[in-house]
Parts: sequence; C-alpha cells; structure tokens
Amino acid sequence: MKIGVLALQGAFREHIQMLKQLNVETKEIRNKEDLEDIQGIILPGGESTAMGKLLVDLNIKDKLKNMIENGLPVLGTCAGMILLANKLSNDTTSHLALMDILVKRNAYGRQLGSFTTYENFKGIEDLVKMVFIRAPYIEKVGDNVDILATVNNNIVAARTNNILVISFHPELTEDTKVHKYFLEMCKASSLN
Ligand code: GLN
Repeated sequence: MKIGVLALQGAFREHIQMLKQLNVETKEIRNKEDLEDIQGIILPGGESTAMGKLLVDLNIKDKLKNMIENGLPVLGTCAGMILLANKLSNDTTSHLALMDILVKRNAYGRQLGSFTTYENFKGIEDLVKMVFIRAPYIEKVGDNVDILATVNNNIVAARTNNILVISFHPELTEDTKVHKYFLEMCKASSLN
C-alpha cells in the first residue's frame, strides 16, 4: 500500500515521517502525474489559501477531486480540512468542496490559538493527543457526516465514507493512533 502526501506546502514532511515509522510506503504529491498508483492521500496542515491556489496553478485540483469522489481515502488535517469543506463560515472561498461541513478558519484566534489537549475519538480506544495550531473547527455537519471528536463542544474530527478530517496535528506528536485509523480506512477500501 502506498499513501500519497500532498507536498506543496505545510507540514507534509512530518506526515511522511509518521507513515514511515508505521512502515508504510509514501509518495510526495507535487504534480498531477504523482497521483497515479496511490491507495490513499493526506492533505497536510499549512496555509489553506496558498495550498488551494497551488492545487489550481499546478493543475492537480480536478484530478484529485475526481479521485476522492470516486472513493480514494483522504485524511485532511487542519488546512487540509479547510480544503475539503464545502463551505467556510468566515471566508468566501471554497477549494475541493467535497464534504458537507461548515468550517471556521482560525477559529481559536490567529495568535493565541495554539494548545494541546487529550480527548476521546470515536473508533479509537484511548485518548488522542490533539495539538492545535491556528486551527479551524467545524460549526455544522450535514446528515451523512459522522462526528468523531469534539473539544469544548466544537467539532474537531469528522468522517463521511472515504473522507476523514481533523482540526489538529497528530503528525507533530508521537501519537500514531489517528494515522493508524486512517490506514485502516485505506486497507478496507483497497480490498473493494
Ligand atoms: N490557519 C490555517 C489556514 O487557515 C490552518 C492552520 C494549520 O493548518 N495549522 O489555512
């Protein structure tokens, strides 16, 4: 199994490092051709406006969108969640627009918005370490979206079928549980 990591901007190296630690083959996605032959993809944290623009400029957006619509498992962390949201509450843009969630960018404030907490995550047994950095959260979900984690009543993790989004950064911790959860999604889907 080979997992792609969008490597245009942001915290992609840390995701690759974590996947390597879990003995998973990785592929840096920098252009449209790189999207061949992957069984899942991670859209990392970073700056969603910059990443969204690069997806268009490098001609990756349409093919990526099509592959996810056709079932490619995707994990969007932080800015990656923003890229996948249908609608942003405090921004007029949308990017890949693949998930029925309303997301607020920089929801905890721009400067003082970084913190760490341990919370429950549906489908994972132990508490998950959650590191937030100028993070978004989900204000509203559609009927087909499963809420997986909340922090102070704000939704910070959710899933619809092959799309998993989280507000926080597991790749910046030693906690591999969310990556393992995502890899299970990829394994299950490549058996189909
Ligand atoms: N604030 C960033 C954005 O809006 C996301 C922050 C992150 O990915 N750590 O794009």
